[in-house]
Amino acid sequence: MRRRLRGIYWRGILLTLVMALAAVAVTAKVKLDDTRDHLTSLLAAAGKWTMDSNDDFQSLADAISGVSPQVRVTFMLRSGLVLADSAREDIADQDHYADPEIAAARRGETGHSLRVSATRDALVMYMARRLSPQLILRLSYPVFGIARVVLTYGALLLFLFLALYLLERRAIARLAADQQRQFEDVCRLLDGEADAAVAVFPEYQPALDAVAYRARRLRDDYEEIQRTLRLRSDFVANASHELRSPLTSVRGYAELLQQGMADTPEERALCLDTILGECDRMLAVIEDILRLSRAERPAEPEAPRPARPVALEIARALLPRTARRRIDISIEGEADVPLGEKALWELMYNLMDNAVRYGREGGHVWVRLSGARVEVADDGIGIDGSQLQRIFEQFYRVDAGRDGGAGDTGGTGLGLSIVRALVEGAGGTVRAESVPGQGSRFIAQFGGEG
Ligand code: ADP
Repeated sequence: MRRRLRGIYWRGILLTLVMALAAVAVTAKVKLDDTRDHLTSLLAAAGKWTMDSNDDFQSLADAISGVSPQVRVTFMLRSGLVLADSAREDIADQDHYADPEIAAARRGETGHSLRVSATRDALVMYMARRLSPQLILRLSYPVFGIARVVLTYGALLLFLFLALYLLERRAIARLAADQQRQFEDVCRLLDGEADAAVAVFPEYQPALDAVAYRARRLRDDYEEIQRTLRLRSDFVANASHELRSPLTSVRGYAELLQQGMADTPEERALCLDTILGECDRMLAVIEDILRLSRAERPAEPEAPRPARPVALEIARALLPRTARRRIDISIEGEADVPLGEKALWELMYNLMDNAVRYGREGGHVWVRLSGARVEVADDGIGIDGSQLQRIFEQFYRVDAGRDGGAGDTGGTGLGLSIVRALVEGAGGTVRAESVPGQGSRFIAQFGGEG
């Protein structure tokens, strides 16, 4: 990046230099053209003047030079011999014969030449014209003014060049450092080490905010995916475990029968009873897994449905067990719940079945319905505070021994997971409250009020 910036910068400088040189060249050319025009008109006027005058050449040279003091006037013979010179320098010993302007004048043309003068040590413009077959008039003009302009421009350009070079080193180094810092900020955003960053250039801020927002979302999604993957692998491990225990038992009793180790008809009946019981347990686990997967599937929103008739029907279905354990069920009020018929049954059954299963013998179960809220409470064994957080997890059971003792058979540990999936799938929330030894309360709330 730094090299590229440098490239752009130096191309800019080069262009500036070329343009500045072009400006110097144009200025120099205009100045030279002006000088040439000036000398041409002076040469024409001086030639005419000479031919009309009777003065000697030196006086004439002085007079012409007086018109334009910078101009040096020289009269010479065709052979190059100097007759008079306004600067009065001894240039007679110099050979002017071969000078290009003199050569041109000899041919009858107006000769001109631009060269460094040996005597004046400066850049001089010469112009010469033949006044008569033997006489040549030459004017010369030192254009060191132009040289001075060129030198001044050159010095300025050099200064500009140096200043730009220093500026480039500082500015580009700073720009590159800022960009580097910006990229590091973006990396930090992506790594989740920062939540926001300040843009080096304010116009980048919206883009940087968008990066920060997307990085946050990606992180959240990633964590959610990790959590789901963890839950899935836990689920597979738990489900396998739940099925392996009864299968091991079935296999053990089947082997006993196969090897003829159950001698008496009573022993054989016991083996078969156990095998059937374990098969029922496996079936119950599989049924609950299927119910859970149904409950977790996204469902279309349902119109609210009255919960009271469902509660009454479940109470009737639980009658054999409530009668055996002398548990009363009271159903109060009415609620409208946005769940399908099967899902509503599933929800209410799991809560009421748990209340009876973990309820106190000779106790009571309350089903309280109001608005879009369903509450099921009991006065049974309750749940310890530390366990309360986990009872909605898949396959979680507080204590298999305790649960077995509290009712007829222990459950699969999936009932409350199904409840939570159903309630949350319909946009509601479910929570549990309990005082160990005094009872528990499960509240499912649909819609806004808490
Ligand atoms: P299960 O099918 O084993 O009942 P659940 O997911 O329905 O599984 O319940 C998880 C655990 O929460 C149960 O093992 C039980 O220990 C506890 N639990 C659920 N409901 C009650 C309740 N009303 N009273 C006491 N404990 C309960």
